[in-house]
Amino acid sequence: MSIDLNMVIIEAKEAGFTEAAILDPETINLMPEVRDMCSANTCGQYDKNWSCPPGCGTLEECRENVSGFKRGIIVQTVGELEDEWDFEGMVEIEKGHKKVFMKFADELRTKYGKILCLGDGPCAVCEECTFPEKPCRLPEKKVSAMEAYGILVSDVCKKNGLGYYFGRCKVAFISCYLFE
Ligand code: SF4
Repeated sequence: MSIDLNMVIIEAKEAGFTEAAILDPETINLMPEVRDMCSANTCGQYDKNWSCPPGCGTLEECRENVSGFKRGIIVQTVGELEDEWDFEGMVEIEKGHKKVFMKFADELRTKYGKILCLGDGPCAVCEECTFPEKPCRLPEKKVSAMEAYGILVSDVCKKNGLGYYFGRCKVAFISCYLFE
């Protein structure tokens, strides 16, 4: 099915994202340095979820996976914090971003079939991930973080005309959808 990406961008903003832009998959560079940051385990999800390293596959496998997608959009939620230490506010903005991201992913799958969704954190589709005992429960819905794929998010934003840093008291959460 042909996709009118400009229309998808309008729909993404209507769905609740602050901003959305066409993403040229050629600008996606999977970098081992970014991927290596996951092993520092600052988020506590390393080796705990099928969407995170090492469960999400090697960088080469992620590259192979991305190479099957020829078009995309990048989406962003920008929110205001009370001050730079407003952790609760940040969590709320992230929750809102994830909710819109997952709902819009379902809409896109219904319309366009197979898509690759890369989000801003570990997969939260199931209450508890089956990793490592059993295979992923819903592989077609699994969402890896862009960073888990080795993507430097600020770089992709810049190359696709999207802002990244909005000042001390603003925070931005970014994700993308890729189409075949
Ligand atoms: S879909 Fe469920 S089992 Fe699969 S990675 Fe996500 S949380 Fe884990």
